[in-house]
Parts: sequence; structure tokens; C-alpha cells
Amino acid sequence: MNKSQLQQHDREHLLHPFTDFHDLGRQGTRVITSAEGAYITDIDGQKMLDGMSGLWCCNLGYSRKEISDAIYEQLNTLPFYNSFFQCTTIPSIELADALAEVTPAHMNNVFFTGSGSEANDTNLRIIRRYWDLKEQPEKRIIISRKNAYHGSTIGGASLGGMSGMHKQFQALDYIEHIQQPYWFAEGGDMSPEEFGIYAARCLDEKIQELGPEKVAAFIAEPIQGAGGVIIPPETYWPEVKKVLDQYDILLVMDEVIFGFGRTGEWFGADYYGMQPDLMTFAKAVTNGYFPLGGTMISDRVADVIKAKGGEFTHGYTYSAHPAACMAGLATINILRNEKIIENVRDNTGPYLAKRWAELADHPIVGEARSLGLVGALELVKDKGSRARFDDDCTAGGVCRDMSIKNGLVMRATGDTMIIAPPLIITTEQVDELVEKARRALDDTA
Ligand code: PLP
Repeated sequence: MNKSQLQQHDREHLLHPFTDFHDLGRQGTRVITSAEGAYITDIDGQKMLDGMSGLWCCNLGYSRKEISDAIYEQLNTLPFYNSFFQCTTIPSIELADALAEVTPAHMNNVFFTGSGSEANDTNLRIIRRYWDLKEQPEKRIIISRKNAYHGSTIGGASLGGMSGMHKQFQALDYIEHIQQPYWFAEGGDMSPEEFGIYAARCLDEKIQELGPEKVAAFIAEPIQGAGGVIIPPETYWPEVKKVLDQYDILLVMDEVIFGFGRTGEWFGADYYGMQPDLMTFAKAVTNGYFPLGGTMISDRVADVIKAKGGEFTHGYTYSAHPAACMAGLATINILRNEKIIENVRDNTGPYLAKRWAELADHPIVGEARSLGLVGALELVKDKGSRARFDDDCTAGGVCRDMSIKNGLVMRATGDTMIIAPPLIITTEQVDELVEKARRALDDTA
């Protein structure tokens, strides 16, 4: 099939996630055909620097044969067996061990799933089970944040705080959403530091309003990713810690994007010095090469669930798929052996910070922020007032198309441009990324 035939079949038979089908009618899908290192190539032969690591997945890029070989060998040895009903497999045990080593010291248990959404649904089940076993069944409510993204299943989307998603389904009624720490858009006259404290105190207010005896858990991404790479002010997480320490409430950190090195530490929780009770992961755990997600469970929670006995009536057929576990092991080995995360912390992260910040001088950039290997640009019509171009945030869509034209994949969340390049990016490739981003901004202005 040629390109237009492929696009026609695509339109006729594929219902794409998070896609406006009118856009497909106008532009057709981009058909990606191959990838190497930090670059992807489309059916027209255009090579693009992948500033989004696929979908925040391929932290080690596209050419790690060790991972695909590990999957292949496992598929030829034991292509599938489940971990239900007193069964297990060697890859699942080995990956559980490795995860216990690389995650914070108090997290020594894992529940495997096939995706980040399933992992957050699992968190909902674990939280309920934990408080029931603790004989505090009235602890039911979960607090999340506006504009958070926690997945697309009913549980994940209810936990998430994206209004556009909530309009299209009926969210679970025991989840409450509070202020997000988005200083650029919502900080008003406050300094970032003041706003960080304010946003954290909103958690305290909500807990008091609901009654701490009814609140089961608070869930948050260390940095809101899909919401627009919202890096909280430095005061935010220490203040959240103070609030949570006062009450008997579980902390769930959703590390689906920030786990496995993006901040320059293994997990966002390490970066911010937090000690979550549950930690969601997916995506980069297998470098995106095989579907796998899960939740790390603190000793505090796991001990109750294990010690009190009784069946935990939850699980997915593909929980701990052996080939996925081998992909996870190979990924963790590379991250460790090649000191990839240390290189982000000491070298490429600081270099990106320096180069990315230069884009703040562009006439349509209201803020250029980054941390580790993640960054965002706020597109504005007027720098002083931070006014957007229009209510529908169409500048972001234009800038995304202009970046592709210039050979760079950037994502647009409204009028916020996002990057999360593979962790293997070199400083020369960071230069290339920033130069292409600048050209995309010029073409958008
Ligand atoms: N949680 C966060 C923070 C995410 O960014 C995502 C996906 O982008 C998910 C959960 C859902 O993961 P999945 O798409 O694997 O279900």
C-alpha cells in the first residue's frame, strides 16, 4: 500500500486514542516507519529528532538490541505464563528484586499490570483493601489534582483531573480534585515560592473540609507531565510532606513519566525527597518496547495486605508477563551499567537547562522551564500579561506542526509546548533540539 492508501485504511478502520477525527480527514496520520537512536523516520523518509521519546517511553532510544533480544529469547523459552493461583515465573521474580533495589528503600513489593492506567486502578483496589484490613472502612475518599493525568480507564480517568476527559464519562464519586501547582498560569500576583505553599495548603484545607478520618489517600505526579510539564515551585513538595505527616493518609506518587531517570534521579520521589506509600510506574520500565506497568508498594501497606491474609481479588492476565519482565530487567541493567541517570543529573540535564532557558528571549515565549530531561515552553501573545493567542489555544497546534516541519517532535498541550527527549541524547543533540525548537517558534510567530 502507498501512503495515501495506508492513510485511507487507517481512517476507515482505526479509532485512534486522543485524536480529533476531523483532523485526520484534513491532514491524514503521520506514518512512522522506522527509528534509530534518538530519531524516528516517517513514510516520506523525513527523519525527526524525537523530542518526546515516543510517548515518554523510549528513554534509551530506539536501538537497544539488548532489550529486544531479551524479549525474543524469552518468547522462545516461555512465551507466556501467568502469576495467578500460586504460580510464578523466573523473570517476574528477578524483575521484582531489581525494582526493590532501584526504588526507595521502604518499597519492597510490586504488583505488575499491563499499563499505567491499570496500575492506578490497582492502587484504588490496594488503598481500599488496606483501609478495610486496618478496620477503618470509612477512609474512602482520594484527593487528586486538577489537570492531573493518571490514565484512561474509568479509575485512572477519575483520578485524573482533566476537564475535557471528565466531560465524556461519569467519574467515580469518591475522588476530589484540588489546586494544581501551576504557577505560570494560576500563580497570579504570588511569587512561585508563595504559590507553592498556597497550593500545598489547599490539600490541608480539603482534608479538613472532608474530615481526615474519611480521606484514604492523596495521589500526584511528582511533576504534572501530560498536563504541561508543570514543575512545582520548590516550596510545594516539602509543604505537602508537612501536611501529610499530620494525618494518617496514604501518598501515591504516579511515576509513569518521571520514573527511571527523567529528573536525573531514579524516581521523582527521590528527587523531591518524598516517601510515597504507593508508586505507579509504566512506560520507560521496558523502554516502551513491551507493555508493562505496576505499582510499588511500601512495606507499611504490603505488610498489612500480606499479614492479614485472605485473597486479594485483583489481577490481570498479563500481570508479570514474562517477556515484559525480561524487557524490564534488560532496561534496568542498561540504566545501571551505563550510568545513564547520573549522566542526566550531571551532564545533559544541566546542559538542557542552560540551552532551553535561552528560548525565553523569543517574542512568543512567556516561560521556558526545564528539569532533568523534560521541558516546556509557554506560548503567549503578550509576555507582560501572559495573554494567550486565543481561547482555543491554537498556537500550540501550529507550533507542533512547525516543529515537525523542522525535523523535531514536540508535543502541544494547549499552548504549552513539551519536550522529553530520550535520556541518551548527547549535548550536540540538545543543541540540535533547541535550534529546531527556535525555528518552530519563528515559523509560528
Ligand atoms: N499516569 C501518568 C502520569 C501518565 O502520564 C500516564 C500516561 O501517559 C498514565 C498514568 C497512563 O499510562 P498508560 O497509558 O500506560 O495506561
